[in-house]
Amino acid sequence: MSSEANPFESLREQVDDAAAVVDADPGVIERLKNPERVLETNLTFERDDGSLETVRAYRSQFNGDRGPYKGGIRYHPGVTRDEVKALSGWMAYKCAVVDVPYGGGKGGIAIDPADYSERELERLTRAFATELRPLIGEDRDIPAPDVNTGQREMNWIKDTYETLENTTAPGVITGKALDSGGSEGRVEATGRSVALSAREAFDWLDRDLAGATVAVQGYGNAGSIAAALLDDLGADVVAVSDSSGGIHDPDGFDPREVKAHKAETGSVVEYPGTERITNDELLTLDVDCLVPAALENAVDGDLARDVRADLIVEAANGPLTPDADDVLADRDAYVVPDILANAGGVTVSYFEWVQNRQRFSWTEERVNEELERVITDAFDTLVDTYESNAVHTLRTAAYVVGIGRIVDAYDQAGSWP
Ligand code: GLU
Repeated sequence: MSSEANPFESLREQVDDAAAVVDADPGVIERLKNPERVLETNLTFERDDGSLETVRAYRSQFNGDRGPYKGGIRYHPGVTRDEVKALSGWMAYKCAVVDVPYGGGKGGIAIDPADYSERELERLTRAFATELRPLIGEDRDIPAPDVNTGQREMNWIKDTYETLENTTAPGVITGKALDSGGSEGRVEATGRSVALSAREAFDWLDRDLAGATVAVQGYGNAGSIAAALLDDLGADVVAVSDSSGGIHDPDGFDPREVKAHKAETGSVVEYPGTERITNDELLTLDVDCLVPAALENAVDGDLARDVRADLIVEAANGPLTPDADDVLADRDAYVVPDILANAGGVTVSYFEWVQNRQRFSWTEERVNEELERVITDAFDTLVDTYESNAVHTLRTAAYVVGIGRIVDAYDQAGSWP
């Protein structure tokens, strides 16, 4: 990580940049720079050796003007109160940009899950679900996967909630396994929207995605699937990385084979026929498209001066600091912001929730078609907003769209009491 920028300060700066061109009461804008409430809790759970451990966990409910709070839960040692607040705000704006009827929320537990057994993680997850129970619900707040969590954790949370509530409520959480009420296409959805956003951006800029070179920083769910789908669209994935380092081959490689190599060895490094590079070297490679798909603050102002790609599509949440944005805008590089590019995850979460409420399942084909429509419509609205307003970046244009929609909902509801 290149910078220690506080993500919550970054979010507030991003909102301020857009607020300058949105016609809204400054009091309403101030409201949109702070979460409505934050749960901070200490979870005590039993280790396999019988000892007790206490860890810190959070859930931030940022804004509920457009619908129930919505957003993932991450397990990572870097989780802090301010990080969760920022991530919950990004969720509120993301849901508004793709026009799904949700507000924004986010949760996290400050642990490295690699330090615990599966049984320990289950006890810890159920302890968190018990704390969350009064706050969440199909119509209140709907968690989902995020960094280091997936179907397994979502299934445990659903089961804990349903058992305590003595009901069935699969829509209380999304990102579940198919047999627990999950949706076709949900696992791939974040990477799919990244690939669709890149396709739309190349098209808008009149550039050819076929044969374009791509580097992907981070090879978890979002990065590895974005890489595979970009390869399907004809791009040449020439470099990828994870927390152990990166690999580069100017002739490109098969991203699915690299994923299999990572599943076998634990990392992308030492994939045959590639040169080993660092994460910073990957981020500054001379490629047509850079996809940061790891954590916040991957690129700060200093590193941005060395970034050579002039199209960046954000798969991670908050990978560029506001300083990095300024540097890139000054040299006319385009950034497709996280709140649109990675919004496929929450969009298919919405489809999962709709299917849960209807007790009816869609085919994978229907999910992917509806997702494509949502992302391409949102991209069109984004570029229209960018071209018709005095804003410097696509990110600010995205906030103009998102803030506008949240402010409209707030105004229509009226202020009470
Ligand atoms: N964690 C994902 C995100 O950051 C998905 C959230 C969701 O599906 O609610 O967008």
